[in-house]
Amino acid sequence: MTRAESILIVGSMAFDDLELPSINARDVIGGSATYSAFAASTFAEIRVVAVVGTDFPDGTLTALRARGIDTAGIERAEGRTFRWAGRYDADLVHRTTLDTQLNVFASFAPKIPAAYRDTPIVLLGNIHPALQLEVLEQVTRPRLVIADTMNFWIEGEPALVDKMLKRIDTLVINDEEARQLSGHHNIRRAAREILTRGPRRLIIKRGEHGALLFDDHGVFAAPGFPLEDVVDPTGAGDSFAGGFVGYLAGQADLSPMALRRAMLYATATASFCVEAVGTARVATLTPKDVADRVTSIRSLYEFGAATM
Ligand code: AMP
Repeated sequence: MTRAESILIVGSMAFDDLELPSINARDVIGGSATYSAFAASTFAEIRVVAVVGTDFPDGTLTALRARGIDTAGIERAEGRTFRWAGRYDADLVHRTTLDTQLNVFASFAPKIPAAYRDTPIVLLGNIHPALQLEVLEQVTRPRLVIADTMNFWIEGEPALVDKMLKRIDTLVINDEEARQLSGHHNIRRAAREILTRGPRRLIIKRGEHGALLFDDHGVFAAPGFPLEDVVDPTGAGDSFAGGFVGYLAGQADLSPMALRRAMLYATATASFCVEAVGTARVATLTPKDVADRVTSIRSLYEFGAATM
């Protein structure tokens, strides 16, 4: 493995109120940037650009720094931190957003510090697509730009989402979002349509069923790891994206096979996130934890193919 490159992560930092089948948890530290940064820091040096309010605990910033994450790009603004509330169905797959309060995000303009501008890998976490575009205006020729988005923006800001799609090379969304974005129910048709709109690669996450990668090499399926105890799926998608870019940061190229291996690292990383409430598990992940789970995932489809 070559020395891992740095990754710039821009996204939300949040307080989440979670209604889970097993427990209700309030004021849980979350946000797309928080989950992705903890996850990706398992593999590479991370720089975060985000905004928090005066109510955000210093302890979380200290915990990020303890993982080697550069927090100099996290702005502390006057006001309250972004808040999100969601309720999960008993199947822990479907969730309803109960509340979204932008708070300090409403007036946030991401400022990429000079020292971060040439970061080779950029992960645009799920935030307003106008902010994702503002970030891209400030960075110089990253070799990989990957973005996430969600129904809230696909519905609310379709023109800006479209503009963002033209500026990125990889989009990561879940199956419902892919259907909504494309207008096709069939996932393969949805993927084909989305790939005509800008990105050269598309990853569609399918919760516990794993994820699909669509690129000019075809389609690749990474299985989800079947867990006995799923506690809190919040942040699984962000942890997936963090594991994906984290793995690629240590690879010499973005070959189709490197991307496929990254898909396994991504599902492995996401599988840890859901084992605990909030960022508790993803904040303590080690490279060995993830490598061992990748081995377990590989064993899911060892079936003596050579003897067929
Ligand atoms: P995931 O479960 O991977 O989709 O990510 C959930 C995280 O995204 C939560 O911690 C929320 O705080 C954050 N989130 C939810 N809605 C939004 C939004 N509209 N903009 C930015 N972040 C959000």
